[in-house]
Amino acid sequence: ALCPRQSGNAEMTRILHRSIGGRLPQAAAGQGIFITDNDGRSYIDGSGGAAVSCLGHGHPEVMAAMRAQMDRIAYAHTSFFTTDVAEELAERLVALAPEGLDYVYLVSGGSEAVEAAMKMARQYFVEIGQPQRRHFIARRQSYHGNTLGALAAGGNAWRRAQFQPILPETHHVSPCYAYRDQRDGETPEAYAARLADELEAKILELGADEVIAFIAEPVVGATLGAVGPVADYFTRIRSICDKYGVLLILDEVMCGMGRTGTMFACEQEGISPDLVTIAKGLGGGYQPIGAVLLSDKVYRSFAEGSGLFQHGHTYICHPMAAAAANKVVELISQPEMLANVRMMGERLQAGLDARLGQHAHVGDIRGRGLFRGIEIVADKETKTPFDPALKMHARIKKEAMARGLLCYPMGGTIDGRIGDHVLLAPPYIIRPEEIDQIVERIGGAIDAAVR
Ligand code: PMP
Repeated sequence: ALCPRQSGNAEMTRILHRSIGGRLPQAAAGQGIFITDNDGRSYIDGSGGAAVSCLGHGHPEVMAAMRAQMDRIAYAHTSFFTTDVAEELAERLVALAPEGLDYVYLVSGGSEAVEAAMKMARQYFVEIGQPQRRHFIARRQSYHGNTLGALAAGGNAWRRAQFQPILPETHHVSPCYAYRDQRDGETPEAYAARLADELEAKILELGADEVIAFIAEPVVGATLGAVGPVADYFTRIRSICDKYGVLLILDEVMCGMGRTGTMFACEQEGISPDLVTIAKGLGGGYQPIGAVLLSDKVYRSFAEGSGLFQHGHTYICHPMAAAAANKVVELISQPEMLANVRMMGERLQAGLDARLGQHAHVGDIRGRGLFRGIEIVADKETKTPFDPALKMHARIKKEAMARGLLCYPMGGTIDGRIGDHVLLAPPYIIRPEEIDQIVERIGGAIDAAVR
């Protein structure tokens, strides 16, 4: 966001953004997996920004699709028109979506998608005559966006803290985080059952017919660092939701669109969600776009009920965004592309295991496809984290940038628990030798940061 001060002095004009207080280089150009800054330094985009740039930068076919659309029409309001590109994108997404998700609502980003999904879920129950349902259950140590509803769903207490009095009420249960929470001697099945019991207890505590939806990321990105569920977890969660008529919203804003090696991460769990949110990789960074995929059941409640989803933004179904996403989705859904995600993902995991598996300060290396996380600890045996004041995750990011690598760091106090990790999520077009360079650079960065 541009935030010019009330002053004619150019020196006084600053950009207010995330890194206020810290000087960042200016991104000058991007090509393939590389970003070049204004000093001519080149970086491997090892995190695709924040798991956004799935096709890398400057992809000629996406740029051409955007140019072509710009020459036709850049904007048309949805109260007057639909567009061929938006319809084509919707058809493409439905064809690729997990079975049962037959409708699409196009928005402009991840938070908007989560916000829309939450409102759809609430309106669904109003339409079917269950207006008493008013609770959302999410998981601790989660992130679903920064708008008020999505922020409320997110389970990071420190993020919510100062906005708490104006946030809608939400409720939280434990995430599926085997590295820290699966007990010694506990099987994955028993761990999954324990978490499902916790969800059931929470539903009963709130009222068996008062819960709207449970929302979770199939593979947790930003807040935990590519943590996937144990086997059985989502099938058990789905059956608890079914038992109480609770909708299941899966947030695939970060882990969707091929990132984990399948188009949707939930395909690997063998369940059908009621609503799925996507963004990031959908536009590949070329345009701001997000979407909610919804089931026939939810859609029909509006169609046969009030006839309208009570929502909307000026930029829904934006033609430029739809044109870019259409091409992005066409390219990433090619079998060779997803095969490369899986192959390069395995190479990345193997490389990280070899380089860092025995490292005294690397607790866990995990993930799926080109979505990998490294958890940093002070003590490998006890899994004790570093003192948060050391900001180990930020140090690693800095050391990585000094070595020409972008990785996505996260750390600090997360709901009373502390940890540092870095996320790697390079573009799907990456080649083996470039994976090896990422391994070498992140290895060097971690060595230097913990020294
Ligand atoms: N959900 C998840 C899982 C995310 O990772 C993010 C972004 N990090 C969002 C929602 C919010 O997306 P956006 O930043 O595009 O609003």
